[in-house]
Amino acid sequence: MRAAFPDFRLGRVLATSFTGTLSERYGKAVERIPTPHRLVDWLAVNDLAVDSCTPAQLDLARELREAIHAAATAAAVQEALPAAAVHVINDHSTRGRAAAVLTPEGERRWRLGSASCVEDALSVIAADAISIIAGERDGELALCASPTCRAAFFDTSRSRTRKWCDMNTCGNRQKKARFHANHRKDAPDGRPPGIDEEQHT
Ligand SMILES: [Zn+2]
Repeated sequence: MRAAFPDFRLGRVLATSFTGTLSERYGKAVERIPTPHRLVDWLAVNDLAVDSCTPAQLDLARELREAIHAAATAAAVQEALPAAAVHVINDHSTRGRAAAVLTPEGERRWRLGSASCVEDALSVIAADAISIIAGERDGELALCASPTCRAAFFDTSRSRTRKWCDMNTCGNRQKKARFHANHRKDAPDGRPPGIDEEQHT
């Protein structure tokens, strides 16, 4: 039987969907590509299908992911980009061979070039990160307001006021936390219901 892996969080921006494969970086971190096969799965759902992935290629992917996270975070808070992260992103961008092709329906697809396709797929992700960090696209990098998350996301809302990397997870959790905080204020002993059980589990 196949082990259950954490679900992917899929966004509309390739580079930040990729950095989202590690979530809760400042809390209980969740690794969503724990095995090479899960990276293959992730690439497939992002239209970058590859045949296989080695543990070494997974390491490369994670190296790129953390470099994008570091550079995107710096860009979001308007700090200087960390040189090491820029180096890793550029290295990945130039290492792979991928070509954009147009389908008869007028959609863009990526055609990966070599036998070691993972590197090609990573180059597409690196190029996507470069385009958002360089400010070429309509949107703005921002950090998730959840203190345990702080994921960099690409805010394309008109007012640029999006607060959460993902409304269904971080946004919802915050709403629940606020509800519990209010509830606690109202409770006579100052404790939210169920806290004793939680402490013993
Ligand atoms: Zn978040």
